[in-house]
Amino acid sequence: MTDTTTAATAADISGLSVEEKASLTSGESFWRTKAVGEIPSVMLTDGPHGLRKQREGGDHLGIGDSVPATCFPPAVALGSSWDVELVERVGTALGVESSIEDVAVLLGPGINIKRSPLCGRNFEYLSEDPIVSGVLGAALVRGIQSQGVGASLKHFAANNQEDDRMRSSSDVDPRPLREIYLRGFQRVVEDAQPHTVMCSYNRINGVFASENRWLLTDVLRDEWCFQGLVVSDWGAVSDRVAALRAGLDLEMPGNAGLSDAAVVAAVGDGSLDESVLDASAARVAELATRWADTERVEGPLDVDAHHALAREAAGRSIVLLKNDVPASDDRPLLPLAADRSIAVIGAFAEKPRYQGAGSSMIRPTRLDDALTGIRAVAGDVVYAPGFSLAAEVDADESSRLRDEAVGAASAADVAVVFAGLPARLESEGYDRDDIDLPADQLAVIDAVVAANPRTVVVLSNGGVVTLPFSRTVPAIVEGWLLGQAGGSATADVLFGAVNPSGKLTETVPLRLEDTPAFLNFPGEEGHVRYGEGLFVGYRWYDARRMEVEYPFGHGLSYTTFSYGDASASVTASGDIEVRVTVTNTGERSGREVVQVYTSLAGSHVQRPPRELKGFGVIELEPGASGEVAVTVRREDLAYWDVRADRWVVEGGEYTIEVGASSRDLRATVAAAVDGDEVRLPLTRESSLGEVLAHPVAGPMVQGALAGMSELFDGASSIMPEGVSMERMMASFPIGRVGMMSGGQVTPDMIDGLLAAANAQQQ
Ligand code: BGC
Repeated sequence: MTDTTTAATAADISGLSVEEKASLTSGESFWRTKAVGEIPSVMLTDGPHGLRKQREGGDHLGIGDSVPATCFPPAVALGSSWDVELVERVGTALGVESSIEDVAVLLGPGINIKRSPLCGRNFEYLSEDPIVSGVLGAALVRGIQSQGVGASLKHFAANNQEDDRMRSSSDVDPRPLREIYLRGFQRVVEDAQPHTVMCSYNRINGVFASENRWLLTDVLRDEWCFQGLVVSDWGAVSDRVAALRAGLDLEMPGNAGLSDAAVVAAVGDGSLDESVLDASAARVAELATRWADTERVEGPLDVDAHHALAREAAGRSIVLLKNDVPASDDRPLLPLAADRSIAVIGAFAEKPRYQGAGSSMIRPTRLDDALTGIRAVAGDVVYAPGFSLAAEVDADESSRLRDEAVGAASAADVAVVFAGLPARLESEGYDRDDIDLPADQLAVIDAVVAANPRTVVVLSNGGVVTLPFSRTVPAIVEGWLLGQAGGSATADVLFGAVNPSGKLTETVPLRLEDTPAFLNFPGEEGHVRYGEGLFVGYRWYDARRMEVEYPFGHGLSYTTFSYGDASASVTASGDIEVRVTVTNTGERSGREVVQVYTSLAGSHVQRPPRELKGFGVIELEPGASGEVAVTVRREDLAYWDVRADRWVVEGGEYTIEVGASSRDLRATVAAAVDGDEVRLPLTRESSLGEVLAHPVAGPMVQGALAGMSELFDGASSIMPEGVSMERMMASFPIGRVGMMSGGQVTPDMIDGLLAAANAQQQ
């Protein structure tokens, strides 16, 4: 395979005319770049969890029938595996399929943060947490690019809803923008160097992502050292010249050269510097020639091997939310014994919902359904659809289906209800109205569990749903959208051939009204205010000490794990090595995802009670113990300092919590971290408190204040007893202290003091 870590040969564009260079920087068609001279045309196509390549001569919109490809679990599921190695293998398989089909760039992964469960496209994203998104996103990119195929990290950035996505401005403060919405992108760019980054449709703080120089150049290239090409989301360019100036290299899809003419004119009249066009044209040329020089994977595709990988990935992605012992039994309901009679209920058992609608929708090479998977293992299985997936259902028909399901459930040892969101309720392009399962499905679940207390509910949904039956139903399996092998993988988990190990990468709330963005989603009149700030997902529920249905990081197994004490040591580079011994205390071999959260008591900035900073996985035989080592990177401890306009690691004693979930914390340890020095020059606007805390100015001002104490005598009568003048005036700008001194402290004196202090701090 081609080593993609070495830079491609710089493409030569020196002999090209302005017209040719302009034409290189926009598409030839829906999916291809233009061929110019020696520079070939290449194909970019969706993505992210399978290849959606339109057949030759397909419809001009490019959204019709595509060649069959393996549908791996969409990100909502794959993320729940927390399995970096597996995710990278899936990435590699995606790269193989793209290479066989001569696709230079696969449009994924998508790593936008799940800000609200209402976002219609959450199924395409990995998590509500930036570390999970960044670590797993980087694994996907590494896998795809191991085959010489480029990844396209999307949608950059702050694109967290579908409603009005092509116009709306995501109004985000600097700290949440950096710490929540950009952190994952930064991680993927720095760790895995995707060949391309796709800018999003929306505006960020008023400026289109496609025209946002701060985002595409200052942050992406100058700060993060991105080496690749920036491509627009399909149709995200509003002003092509402004986009080029901002750092957008390639406009997609093609528009028959219409916007190229504007670029040529702008170079002609001097409003666009030709060197800007040169840089973008060279990046497109480099992408295309690199692909031309890349050795292809020879087909045909090994459909069986990739289907097997899709099944393995789906099995790893399933989250066992609940597994109680039914009243009449002495063991948890799951795994099921193959010799029991089983009533399989719910239309999703037969017609799986395995991927979401929109640009990521692919044509699978094969499709497993759970009913067939269950019948392959158990002999005594009856099936009742239970409900209809049609948009309009007649009430009589609903009760007939429900009664039939109840009859089947009553006659069987166990009932397994496959419930979920019908495809129309979540999609790219629009957001959800609520987060509830359809009422007729809830009614079936209630009726079935009343008829048979040994009821398992298996869910198929791309966005989280409320689970009002969580108290009554003894076993709940979150199946998300599991890709083409989800049906057989679900049977693997139900019967215990696979011991579940997935964990939630997003919180399951009790009510929509509890969710962090509830009052700020999807915004109005062109703006959506990210009013919850840093408090996204579990950061919100923990800060507000709210009950949730299932917390971030939760997921059960058919075995149990105990955790020993944790240890933490700071390495020479400043990272924290966290170690903990985990023991499999149950009777089956299993896999545990260990999570590491940090916090800093007394921080001078607002922080969530805990934030995930790393995770590790261990597989253990029954009775066995093993050590899990998780590195917390020093840079991940940093907050975005708005005054210094940079990342700062605050020094202090960090609390490190090691847990099986964000609310099942098993060990706590501390680590002393040396902070970064932040030297902000003092100005007249610096408060007296800041000046007093300053190592040089502080003692000087302290002395001066002591000498002037009689000036403030009058003020003491209005101060509470026991409170010092320094406390009272801590937030008083030093430049305005003069007026309180009756003219004794002049502006010149203050400036002199500030200059002396700043000079000594250099
Ligand atoms: C989506 C992208 C996708 C592109 C091409 C856009 O509408 O937002 O994720 O890659 O279309 O299909």
